[in-house]
Amino acid sequence: SSVLLTGANGFVAVNVLQTLLDKGCTVVGTVRSESKTNFLREKFSPFVKNGTLKFAVVPDITVPGAFDEVLKEHRFDAVVHTSSPFYLTATDIQTEMLDPPIKGTTGILESVFKLAPTVKRIVITATFANIQSIPKGDWPGGVYTEEDWSPVKLDEVSRSHPILGYVAGKLYAEKAAFDFVKEKSPNFSVTTLCPPMVFGPPEQELTSLNNLNQSNTDIYDVFNGTSEPRYGTWVWVDVRDLARAHVAAIDSPAAANQRYLLSAGNYSPQAIADYIWEHYPERAAAKGVKKGNPGRLYPDTGVFSIDNSKSVRDLGIVYNDFNSMMKDTLEKFEKLELQG
Ligand code: NDP
Repeated sequence: SSVLLTGANGFVAVNVLQTLLDKGCTVVGTVRSESKTNFLREKFSPFVKNGTLKFAVVPDITVPGAFDEVLKEHRFDAVVHTSSPFYLTATDIQTEMLDPPIKGTTGILESVFKLAPTVKRIVITATFANIQSIPKGDWPGGVYTEEDWSPVKLDEVSRSHPILGYVAGKLYAEKAAFDFVKEKSPNFSVTTLCPPMVFGPPEQELTSLNNLNQSNTDIYDVFNGTSEPRYGTWVWVDVRDLARAHVAAIDSPAAANQRYLLSAGNYSPQAIADYIWEHYPERAAAKGVKKGNPGRLYPDTGVFSIDNSKSVRDLGIVYNDFNSMMKDTLEKFEKLELQG
């Protein structure tokens, strides 16, 4: 099928792109500037040469009609919308964290509704933050499922806090997508995917390991000796599984107007340090990798877990395990370090 992929140069999106191309899909990937296509044209050159991969520049997804041109120019069966800011240091929450996800999502839905009647499915990268309830904390014994919604509100608190702002932007974007379908009954259905910490080998363009995508810095900063194991949330997913889920969601009849919690299950940031000390002892000693509390993965009282059975059933995901993700990711980091 023919797929429009937004934010094609991101960490998650490059993996989605690889999976789409491997499956034989024709893809138009959007990026914010022409220069961001160079690396991708090189990486996927056979697909560029035979015309199955093309690019379009959409400089600002918050502008009404931002996607009109690319939707008029090509015929699509599906849209995969990944582009959204993911960093935790925003200073202008409204324009950096709220407008891009919310206006970007409603904008692409409206443009597809208006201009692209052949599109049957829009898959949207949401986040586990849209499911998790921060006030519940570690929630020992609790189990999150797709039925759970974050209680974060689009209010003054989230408008002045970079992390809550990130959650509010993602949450109201996801809600807006389901509201749109309810109100307009379009030709297409939507599927939202809610991953927690996404880890795995970075295949995107990197000018240096200092500008890794946000989630992978939780691993690299420990590997590099620059920080203690850092808490993100107690659950994770391999980027390659998340990519397969995006592609499976395009064709899964059961996934129409559904959301999915995409996670392999629990992990502890401590497990990152423990893995490095076990498998790279010399490097760990040389770099002064912070040990944390070896072997103490979770608080004694326990932490919440997740139920991923809906994603297994409807999307056929077989989740990768933490140690094999660590192996592949650290090997990739070492390669990138050698390249300088
Ligand atoms: P990356 O930072 O690697 O990629 C983000 C992508 O979104 C890039 O293409 C980027 O383009 C684009 N983007 C960023 N800001 C804007 C903006 N203001 N307007 C338009 N496009 C923008 O992050 P990930 O690949 O990790 O994230 C991809 C998606 O996955 C996001 O929707 C994120 O919320 C979601 N997600 C990620 C998790 C993780 O742990 N990685 C966890 C849960 C959800 P450019 O290169 O031009 O900045």
